[in-house]
Amino acid sequence: MKIKVLATGDTMQVAPHPLLKVLELSKIIEFVSEVPEPRPRGSAVWTVAFTATSFENYLHAACSACGQSSRIFNPTERASFAHCGKVERVPADVYQEYDDRLKNPESASVTASRRNTSGTVSYI
Ligand SMILES: [Zn+2]
Repeated sequence: MKIKVLATGDTMQVAPHPLLKVLELSKIIEFVSEVPEPRPRGSAVWTVAFTATSFENYLHAACSACGQSSRIFNPTERASFAHCGKVERVPADVYQEYDDRLKNPESASVTASRRNTSGTVSYI
């Protein structure tokens, strides 16, 4: 458990002991809550990407707050990405873009080249 010595402000980790309660009641120490820091709560950035070798489309989701990222191959419109203690579903417009490319692969590279200038498509 963690305590704070009120006279100095120091905090320290100590083994539980019955006399700690006496020290607390005597205003010598106080117990420090060991509740973990709240997790970051970022928002995922979804992109449609494709592998450079096979030009296989996939969804890429990444979060800058927690550093998690995921590649989702063969996704459905219900694809999700778990991060920051939550689960985010793929936005409808991003899935639509993926689906369009799947149905019309000939235009994918043209579309990707054009969209790459705006940073919505990433290459690996
Ligand atoms: Zn996150």
